Amino acid sequence: LWNRCLARLEDELPAQQYSMWLRPLQVVASADGGELILFAPNRFIVDWVRDKYLERIGELLGELQSGPLPTLSIKVGASRPSRPAITPAPVATPAPAVPASAQSFGGAAPAPRDSAPGVTAKHRSNLNSTFLFENFVEGKSNRMAAAAAQQVAENPGTHGYNPLLLYGGVGLGKTHLMHAVGNGLLRRNPNAKVVYLHSERFVADMISALRNKTINEFKRFYRSVDALLIDDIQFFAGKEQSQEEFFHTFNALLENGQQIILTCDKFPKEIDGLEERLKSRFGWGLSQPMEPPELETRVAILKKKAEEARIELPNDAAFFIAQRIRSNVRELEGALKRVIAHVRFTGAPLDIGLVKDALRDLLAIQARQVSVDNIQRTVAEYYKIKIADLLSPRRSRSVARPRQVAMALSKELTSHSLPEIGDAFGGRDHTTVLHACRKVKELREGSTEIEEDYQNLLRSLTS
Ligand code: ADP
Ligand code: MG
Repeated sequence: LWNRCLARLEDELPAQQYSMWLRPLQVVASADGGELILFAPNRFIVDWVRDKYLERIGELLGELQSGPLPTLSIKVGASRPSRPAITPAPVATPAPAVPASAQSFGGAAPAPRDSAPGVTAKHRSNLNSTFLFENFVEGKSNRMAAAAAQQVAENPGTHGYNPLLLYGGVGLGKTHLMHAVGNGLLRRNPNAKVVYLHSERFVADMISALRNKTINEFKRFYRSVDALLIDDIQFFAGKEQSQEEFFHTFNALLENGQQIILTCDKFPKEIDGLEERLKSRFGWGLSQPMEPPELETRVAILKKKAEEARIELPNDAAFFIAQRIRSNVRELEGALKRVIAHVRFTGAPLDIGLVKDALRDLLAIQARQVSVDNIQRTVAEYYKIKIADLLSPRRSRSVARPRQVAMALSKELTSHSLPEIGDAFGGRDHTTVLHACRKVKELREGSTEIEEDYQNLLRSLTS
């Protein structure tokens, strides 16, 4: 019950609020279900949750169960399994994007031999069965990545597609696609041993295997899979021993034609603290970037998610949301969830007015955010040039430098993607924007004058 309640809260609240105040709670239910005690790590959280969320939690509990409502209280402490009449419910933290944390291989207690992790692949794959190709909406920004993923799901281990590396910013569907491949592999062969885990999990499991002297089993386990899916490999940065171990696992799998799929938040070559030999090896197969989706794709995603939630989302409302939430799909989903919660809560028809109401905070924050237009205007004024010069093809230093500064500021202060910024600067390529950002960084480090200009501009744009 608590897990379902948490899931609802997660839908309703901004992610940050949820993870700050609700995720740390532990819950204990009395054996007869008549009492529910929430434990918070400190007084501050107790007060805050009591003030802001307890009422809503009570309402949700009422909605989610039919019987009499348990009495609800909150106090400082942790759930203690040893209490006789009271059984601890598991703390609900399984974020769908990182299911590995819910049921991971390894851990402190060595499992009995037969049920060694992964032996019954079907039950141990950690795949999220809701991330499928069928509910992945394709558009220009992700079509190549989706095609590569599909190819791997159909012909795992194919030379040239191994490893498959999907990289790009947060919330763009990397984890979704990765699971879609895993689910596809299992659909084709239910006995396949497909293992998904987050790279942090790999590191933690390796450390506990070393401590428990089960490193040989650890190695055997990872070398025995048909497909190994490791999410967010940027977390390997700076962890030398894990990289070493992963390097060997990686080689062993590749040699045997076992499929490896990796995701990363940037192109691996750009990760500091990652060994060169790993960087180059990650590039042996196919690397596919994932970009923020364009407007039409964002609309299509909203329509799809609304349909899944069995909510009729009119086109104008979908466009209204998609025009305002641009940076990534996770935020788009978050906004839609808020809208849906609002519809269910108020019973009002879903139109633009309701969307405005539901997203009021979000839109207010956005209104305060700096726009590229604003940046261009401010930079042009500061350097005493024309805005048109910033957008023009002119390359003379007197306009090229301010243009680069304006691009770097746009990257820093707005949530626009590199291609979008490029577009806003007279249709330049995203590599030009990337180059400008690097150049400005270098110039700021090398020249106090430019650093001062940059700081002045930052100040006037954000104050
Ligand atoms: P990443 O791993 O890149 O940070 P995720 O795969 O976790 O992003 O995606 C974030 C959320 O957005 C997930 O709920 C996912 O289902 C959804 N999502 C991302 N891209 C798409 C898409 N193209 N179609 C449908 N849902 C998507
Ligand atoms: Mg992810």
